Amino acid sequence: MRLIVQKYGGTSVGTPERIRNVARRLLETQQSGCKVVGVISAMAGVTDNLIKLARETSPQPTEREMDALLATGELAAIALIAMAINALGGKAISLTGAEAGILTDRAHTRARIANIAPKQIHQLLADDYIVVVAGFQGQNPDGDTTTLGRGGTDLTAIALAGALNADACQIFTDVDGVFTCDPRVVSEAQKLDEVAYDELLEMAGAGSKVMQSRAVEFAKKFGVEFEVRSSFHQNAGTIAREETANMEDVVIRGISVDRNQAKLTVDDVRDEAGIAGQIFSAIASGNIVVDMIVQSVSKHGTTDISFTIHENDLDAATKLLEPVVKEVQAAGLITKSGVAKLSVVGIGMRSHSGVAARLFDCLGRGGINIHLISTSEIKIAVVIDGQDADRAAQLTHEEFGLAKFIPSQTPQSADE
Ligand code: ADP
Ligand code: ASP
Ligand code: MG
Repeated sequence: MRLIVQKYGGTSVGTPERIRNVARRLLETQQSGCKVVGVISAMAGVTDNLIKLARETSPQPTEREMDALLATGELAAIALIAMAINALGGKAISLTGAEAGILTDRAHTRARIANIAPKQIHQLLADDYIVVVAGFQGQNPDGDTTTLGRGGTDLTAIALAGALNADACQIFTDVDGVFTCDPRVVSEAQKLDEVAYDELLEMAGAGSKVMQSRAVEFAKKFGVEFEVRSSFHQNAGTIAREETANMEDVVIRGISVDRNQAKLTVDDVRDEAGIAGQIFSAIASGNIVVDMIVQSVSKHGTTDISFTIHENDLDAATKLLEPVVKEVQAAGLITKSGVAKLSVVGIGMRSHSGVAARLFDCLGRGGINIHLISTSEIKIAVVIDGQDADRAAQLTHEEFGLAKFIPSQTPQSADE
């Protein structure tokens, strides 16, 4: 008998009616002759509200309690789904992450899955249950609840599909699949039929929140093929898989925009060994993730070092850097929030040249100034002003021919 893992995200379970819809879909999948594991997110907005509540209650919530709190969103959702299935005459049972055998390391709020022991799931499936598992959570070696980072239900689903050796893993969401760009930003964006893990990984890391990047990383590492598709109808979605030879024919697969970036520049600093080490050690001591780094050409023995971080980390980074800037006798620290990163991604870039020139030219014609540039084998990313982000996405999308073909309207005849 086929075993299917189906993940439903927050919007898909956002109202009682949608919960009943998901319950019906899980039951229909079982009735079509499959064993079914549902992996469920908290109802839309619940996790955000819990975070807000924690911050209003305590200036710096302790991480263990934060995880205990955040995990409750998914616990409510799984119980509701299971009772909705039971109300439809099905047989369902809800399991917490710990009950599902998801064991993690001790890194609260961003735990990594260390092992999955799905014995209980196998037993329940053998007893004809639809097993409804709480996404986004696990248990650490001390028996405490941990969470897997925002969007972590994707990771639960992929990791469970791998551990259960499932025949299919379906990620149901509120759009029809992975698009060439966020369809809420570029209305002409097209749904992709397939995408390589590496492309989706770059897109997810560059701000396309359709999949959590850690989940895609896991899928790539363990070869878990999955499909992203809509929970609102039955249409086929996007298959994510290891790249195939013909995938390189497409130069650009997608465009991602990340609006929540900040840029920092250590201005006029001595161009000497060890200085960059001092700057980035200070940032690392605050566990702040640095994205792009650019050092300008040295002039008269000094240089500028610019880099980007998440906007939320700007205050902490500024506090950590100010003493270092004095110590290394740089002219100052210039910070700029409200910048965005636009990335064009495609494994075809490995074998096609001229992508950078086309991108820069297109942005130039649109009067969009580029602050920083970085490249990888399959991605070119630029930092631009946040206010230019949507327009830049639309222009680039058009430039690389990603837009849907919309047939021009036939002119109406005069006597109609
Ligand atoms: P879920 O709650 O189901 O996990 P998310 O909100 O996390 O759903 O992810 C789905 C959203 O991702 C979509 O509503 C869409 O706006 C956004 N998105 C961003 N980039 C893309 C893209 N390239 N393709 C599809 N959706 C995208
Ligand atoms: N509820 C969690 C979040 O909002 C996990 C998820 O939805 O995947 O990040
Ligand atoms: Mg998500």
